[in-house]
Amino acid sequence: MWKLIIILVLLIIFYFMIRASIREFLGKKEPDPLLPTKDVMVQDPVCKTYIPAGTALGEKIGGQQYYFCSEECAGKFKSYMAG
Ligand SMILES: [Zn+2]
Repeated sequence: MWKLIIILVLLIIFYFMIRASIREFLGKKEPDPLLPTKDVMVQDPVCKTYIPAGTALGEKIGGQQYYFCSEECAGKFKSYMAG
């Protein structure tokens, strides 16, 4: 009877070890490099202010992604790019 309990306990320990290693493996997944995280600071090309990417106003102009602190800066930049 004791042997059975020991085997059962070992199986439970084994199960938790496997689960922890799977979780660790999944946790090490690289974040998507194409998406800037919300904590990343981006620079407004107009007023040179640094804004967190999460709150910045993102605009794709001429195939490139730009970030602005406000609608006003985005407008200024677009008119500047237009000539
Ligand atoms: Zn600005």
